[in-house]
Amino acid sequence: MGKPTGFKEIEREIPVDRNPVERIKDWNEFHDHLSEDKLRNQGARCMDCGVPFCHTGALFAGMASGCPINNLIPEWNDLVYRGLWREAIDRLHKTNNFPEFTGRVCPAPCEGSCVLGISEPPVTIKNIEVSIIEHAFDEGWVVAESPAKRTGKKVAVVGSGPAGLACAAQLNRAGHEVTVFERADRIGGLLMYGIPNMKLDKKVVQRRVDLMAAEGVKFVANTEVGKDYPSKKLLQEFDAVVLCGGATKPRDLPIEGRQLKGIHYAMEFLHGNTKSLLDDKECANFISAKGKDVVVIGGGDTGTDCVGTSLRHGCKSLNQLEILPKPPLARASDNPWPQWPKVYKMDYGQEEAAALYGSDPRQYLVTTKKFVGDENGHVKELHIAQIQWEKDANGRFIPKEVPGTEKVIPAQLVLLAMGFLGPEDTVLSDLNIERDARSNAKAEHGQFSTNIQGVFAAGDMRRGQSLVVWAINEGRGAAREVDRYLMGETQLP
Ligand SMILES: Cc1cc2nc3c(=O)[nH]c(=O)nc-3n(C[C@H](O)[C@H](O)[C@H](O)COP(=O)(O)OP(=O)(O)OC[C@H]3O[C@@H](n4cnc5c(N)ncnc54)[C@H](O)[C@@H]3O)c2cc1C
Ligand code: SF4
Repeated sequence: MGKPTGFKEIEREIPVDRNPVERIKDWNEFHDHLSEDKLRNQGARCMDCGVPFCHTGALFAGMASGCPINNLIPEWNDLVYRGLWREAIDRLHKTNNFPEFTGRVCPAPCEGSCVLGISEPPVTIKNIEVSIIEHAFDEGWVVAESPAKRTGKKVAVVGSGPAGLACAAQLNRAGHEVTVFERADRIGGLLMYGIPNMKLDKKVVQRRVDLMAAEGVKFVANTEVGKDYPSKKLLQEFDAVVLCGGATKPRDLPIEGRQLKGIHYAMEFLHGNTKSLLDDKECANFISAKGKDVVVIGGGDTGTDCVGTSLRHGCKSLNQLEILPKPPLARASDNPWPQWPKVYKMDYGQEEAAALYGSDPRQYLVTTKKFVGDENGHVKELHIAQIQWEKDANGRFIPKEVPGTEKVIPAQLVLLAMGFLGPEDTVLSDLNIERDARSNAKAEHGQFSTNIQGVFAAGDMRRGQSLVVWAINEGRGAAREVDRYLMGETQLP
């Protein structure tokens, strides 16, 4: 239970990130790590609250509260406090195949529902998580573990993001022969080509992929199912199929001037950047922000990654436009604990922009009216205006332009980061998979089976664009159900 009086004696401490002005000169991770003594102290703050919410993963007001993979947080907090790192990683691996990913990129809904967080800053759960797994790698405790027995059953996983990887790892552990198809040239989905290197070093992703390959998972990169490999062939060649293709259809902004050169979807920008970095040369679709006035449309994670990447390219100026209002500094009365706290925060990209240009680059309650181009058909400016949200006759909130607020801002590069609309169609149509109202593959959470026998769906392809931790939850759950389908029973959690 940590130290009985720890939460009274010890203040929350997280490692100080690298200096923003320095870190934008490279692509290395911006996180640092706490010393072992400090980590043990942070574990000591866990107060054995009796009814912990941190590991529940319950949904309140449509948002996750507590850890969606039910990490046994109070247990490993205590183990870290007592210096029992080996036992801590064993507990952590029981629920999480990839703590090195979540410990770096998870928004940590666990901390939002920590009971200590009602009156004091919460326990530093995410930082303890990443420290446990990195300690374990340093000690050589994380090694390939192949299953003792093979079942002779073959499973295809389409897509190698966190859902596909978690599913493959669990099915391989159960003794099935797993093949993961990936259309990109590298394995990892958005872990590899979405989230940039400074947030999640690609060596960390590759380290886990190599371990899984050593355990017997077969990875087939550069192979798009539905194009390079016929979708229907999956049904003939494999005993079960799990669709983990993500939700990659980007939301567009079809306004005047959208066809101009220099306006790109965020993922074109981020993918090309990481590929160039890893290939050590500019790839065909590398888009540079160097010397440009950049406008990022969209204030979420993807937008932040565009901000951080543009700064590292050496952009001239940066604006980030958000149509929603600025969140409050503290929880609003309709957003109580243990709900996910919807409060204003500076993420790493905004911190860096503020350090360089003096302020947060985000402008709230802003809409883009049109893009205007130069004589070469290249974007040169955006016409924007303030909006306010008003209720229409049906009680729905709609954005209304505030008269007289129109402004022109320069831009030679515009990045559209306004979210994703759902999965791509090819494989789902080829296999006649039913869709839900949001065009995702239709399958119940917990069952993961689609309308086609032997075909399962998990991760963003089933739930829509979400979080790495939910993808791991779904990959593990789908593996459990596939194992049950193949064997009639299952020991998988
Ligand atoms: C820029 C960006 C930043 C993000 N940052 C964070 C963050 O900081 N923290 C967080 O928790 N979440 C973050 N997310 C969300 C998170 O990355 C996703 O929710 C998660 O990766 C979904 O996992 P997945 O396995 O379902 O799909 P994905 O990771 O999208 O993987 C799907 C894979 O399937 C492949 N594929 C698709 N169709 C085919 C086919 N027909 N044949 C072969 N392969 C195919 C794709 O190439 C892709 O590699 C971010 C998302 C984006 C876009
Ligand atoms: S996976 Fe996310 S929610 Fe779960 S313990 Fe780690 S940081 Fe918290």
